[in-house]
Amino acid sequence: MEKVKIIEVGPRDGLQNIDFFVPTKQKIQFIKRLAACGISEMQIGSFVAPQAIPQFQDIREMVKGIKALKNVVLSALIPNIRGAENALSCGIGKFIFFFSVSSAHNYRNVRQTPEESIKELRHICQKYLDDSGITFQAALATVFGCPFAGEIKTDAVLRAVEKTADCGVTEITLCDTVGFGNPKMIEEKFSACQKRFPEITFGAHFHNTRGLALANTLRAYEIGIRSFDAATGGLGGCPYAPNSSGNVATEETVFLFEQMGIKTGIDVQKLLSVCRFLQKTLPQANITSSLFQAGLPKKHKLVDDSKRGKTK
Ligand code: ZN
Repeated sequence: MEKVKIIEVGPRDGLQNIDFFVPTKQKIQFIKRLAACGISEMQIGSFVAPQAIPQFQDIREMVKGIKALKNVVLSALIPNIRGAENALSCGIGKFIFFFSVSSAHNYRNVRQTPEESIKELRHICQKYLDDSGITFQAALATVFGCPFAGEIKTDAVLRAVEKTADCGVTEITLCDTVGFGNPKMIEEKFSACQKRFPEITFGAHFHNTRGLALANTLRAYEIGIRSFDAATGGLGGCPYAPNSSGNVATEETVFLFEQMGIKTGIDVQKLLSVCRFLQKTLPQANITSSLFQAGLPKKHKLVDDSKRGKTK
């Protein structure tokens, strides 16, 4: 039976884009409810300076509140060596290092050139990769387009992947940060990467900014990608496209795969109740999921025509 891994990024990517502080207790409840749906991996936040992203100023208390969760890998974004040290001291088991393929975007995001970011990654990997027991993943932003530089050439993506792989990272996620991707582009960039770097496990991170996230997910699946980031409720957004929709919704991604007979290990009914929880507790959050709005389709019942009254 075919299987895919869906990584929940709502607590990180979703809440990062909300411009008010979500109380720690509420974040912990959100994460616990997600874990109860059968989610096996979750990005819970970022170890960045509190001035940069105030939403994660309470990340230490959050981790304390969810440490007891079993059967779920908790990961966090690590922008630099200091973030790595803090994450390790909290007991985070998986580090995600992110940088942008586009220089203009990386500079605005982390005030570094991509080359400087790679240097930082090398540094972190040298210190933690071998004997700390930490798993590493790199997330490459703006792979499918940049709000400042426009089109990103496949060659530039391949060079970024090569430098990342050189640091010893074997899990790399290609991100459509601002929703510029389409299925043809997804195929082109992922296939080029898979062909050149067969030893790397590639994952997909799609935003639904322009409505193509599920189409892109399906295309990525068809060419062999088996790891997908998604946010419950389609939380999130895009700082470069105000009021736009956020990440591809977890419940829609689960629904898509399960309807096609592809196992996710996640209970979609329970995810919809997490959406209701979000709606109630975070009424300001932008829940854009169509599945949440429409609900699951009723199971088809066989109708016995002989017992049915005649209709005119
Ligand atoms: Zn994102």
